[in-house]
Amino acid sequence: MTKEVREKIQALFDLKGLRMTRPREVILEAAFSDRGDHFTADELFEKARAIDRSTSRATLYRTVALLVEGGLLHEIDLGKGVTSYDPNFIDSPNHNHLVCIDCSNVIEFEDLHISVLEDCITRRLGFTPASKSVQIRARCDALKRAGTCVHLVD
Ligand SMILES: [Zn+2]
Ligand SMILES: [Zn+2]
Repeated sequence: MTKEVREKIQALFDLKGLRMTRPREVILEAAFSDRGDHFTADELFEKARAIDRSTSRATLYRTVALLVEGGLLHEIDLGKGVTSYDPNFIDSPNHNHLVCIDCSNVIEFEDLHISVLEDCITRRLGFTPASKSVQIRARCDALKRAGTCVHLVD
């Protein structure tokens, strides 16, 4: 977890008058330790339980809801049928996703042109962007070419 992330979490906890307890600390560690990792609530629960077996689902759901409300976690749809959570918007607030519908691989990318375009479109429609993210759903060229891909799951 970077210093910046830790400071933002502490600021949110201060704002809400919450103490940094051990169960909350475990969930934060699970959520923000692996840069680039998006997760579902179930996946986060597994990660948190690997750190501390006594992690409870109730605490996890409450903490996740708090982080979403505070803008530190973003809910995203990766086509899994359940909500995924993205911890990377703190470090890169304008990142986008390419989701491979063949292999479930998720690639984050930033692009100045898309960002400028999103600003222009939003302002033209009479709004100010609050957060911006584009998602591209794509087929895997490696799988098509070679019949296999390192990212293939199942
Ligand atoms: Zn992301
Ligand atoms: Zn692939």
